[in-house]
Amino acid sequence: MIIKFKNNVTEEQVSRLKSKLLKQGFELHESIGETTHLLGVIGDTISYDINGLYAYEFIDNVLRVQEPFKKVNRKFKPDDTIVDVSGIEIGNKNIVIMGGPCAVESQEQMDEITPLLKSAGAKIVRGGAFKPRTSPYSFQGLGSEGLDILENISKKYKIPVVSEIMSVDELPLFVKQVDLIQVGARNMQNFNLLKELGKIDKPILLKRGLANTIEEWLMSAEYILSGGNSNVILCERGIRTYETSTRNTLDISSIPVIKKLTHLPIIVDPSHASGRWEYVESLSKAAIAAGADGLIIEVHQTPEQALSDGQQSLKPGRFNELIKNCKRIAEAVDRTLE
Ligand code: PEP
Ligand code: MN
Repeated sequence: MIIKFKNNVTEEQVSRLKSKLLKQGFELHESIGETTHLLGVIGDTISYDINGLYAYEFIDNVLRVQEPFKKVNRKFKPDDTIVDVSGIEIGNKNIVIMGGPCAVESQEQMDEITPLLKSAGAKIVRGGAFKPRTSPYSFQGLGSEGLDILENISKKYKIPVVSEIMSVDELPLFVKQVDLIQVGARNMQNFNLLKELGKIDKPILLKRGLANTIEEWLMSAEYILSGGNSNVILCERGIRTYETSTRNTLDISSIPVIKKLTHLPIIVDPSHASGRWEYVESLSKAAIAAGADGLIIEVHQTPEQALSDGQQSLKPGRFNELIKNCKRIAEAVDRTLE
């Protein structure tokens, strides 16, 4: 249930109502925006008599929220959430590009590629250390050594890093060594992991599951927010369909839907969506045109030798071109890409 206050409400009136609702066992989520002052009330509100609330002259309106997601719901917080990843803001007018290899392969590899990513315009470097591979015989990532390399790169080149966590036991390492913790598509509904991520304040990049609905995705984000961590960035990475020409089907429509349903920022991963490097630029442009707040793109200096996902990785030169070409799209939709 959402209580909308009148503009002239006083702090004291709000705090008296809050104490009353807290005593009744509800959880509260207050949102003070430029033009609206709301109080989200979470709990068993079904049997609550809304009419009684209209007795308060400072209450403008009370509405019931039908959706199962509450804290991520834009009705609870109309203003966009901006997530700060070690100084890089995601969710404001500027579009943020993240880039890097699918997997961290060596210190030398990351030393060679990071300056190229930076000069192309990437603001965050990606690199998997713990890799969720379909085959147990494929390269599984360098594990904690990969995180050491990323931490080193971040310090050396002064750029935040993002990497995927696969299990709760890895959490202390991730909290210490990365700036943005990625939850991969395969773990979107690992509820134990999501609960633990709710207890920290590090930003989380929550990818959409391979075959999950937008509502299920938002319920996973709700797990993290309900635990107390509101620094969540959503990532659309394509979903399973009957189409086989691309690895997945990029659900472009999820971008405006997400913008309508939630205040959380959304970025797009055109690499895993398409599975082929030659489609990555078109999908990146489409994502920006549809309202995405950023992109995460796989880049490798020698894709033919990459230990994972070479077929969808751009060479640094093409990545540079892509960012240049996307700037024009960003401007056309009244965004910046700096
Ligand atoms: C990745 O980003 O390296 C990855 C494995 O992506 P996804 O979880 O979207 O498949
Ligand atoms: Mn990959």
